[in-house]
Amino acid sequence: ARESVDELINRLLVTIEDFPEPGVHFKDLTPVFADGPALRAVVDALVEPFAGTFDAVAGVEARGFLLAAAAAYATGTGVVTVRKAGKLPRETYATESQSEYGSSTLELHTDDLPAGSRVLVLDDVLATGGTLASAAELFSRAGISVAGFGVVLELPEMRGRRRLGGHRVRSLIRA
Ligand code: AMP
Repeated sequence: ARESVDELINRLLVTIEDFPEPGVHFKDLTPVFADGPALRAVVDALVEPFAGTFDAVAGVEARGFLLAAAAAYATGTGVVTVRKAGKLPRETYATESQSEYGSSTLELHTDDLPAGSRVLVLDDVLATGGTLASAAELFSRAGISVAGFGVVLELPEMRGRRRLGGHRVRSLIRA
């Protein structure tokens, strides 16, 4: 029988202990992205529950970009980037972001999308939720509504969903 999307992810996903720092169980999804059928199944499963509810897809630097561009292409929408500080050339909204390991500043161009747009925000992993909560803050400042969040893998013990209150969150596997 054909593998389901969670079977594909579980077969291809690699866990690296103590990367990028001691104590982190790093979930490397690059082998999922490198596999054609797996990439397509993942992107289709991420957009499916949100069909018709978004005008654009946002990716969080850097692995979220891969998912967002594919999802945007698949749905005929545009893609926008939530980037680390100093990468976007024009006026931005910026906010501090705390993730499972380390903190950084995230930025969004102020005029990437018209106010009132609805965006689906994608990333590879949901851990503490700090990254996606910061992305939500940026879109809120821009007057853009978050249609939902989609991640390939959720680490439920980090309780990231609690920080995304009020938003729909779709994760394809939990580990
Ligand atoms: P957080 O903000 O804590 O939810 O962390 C999510 C962000 O950090 C995502 O952009 C992930 O790519 C990355 N990340 C955090 N923890 C992990 C992990 N255990 N494995 C892989 N990526 C992670």
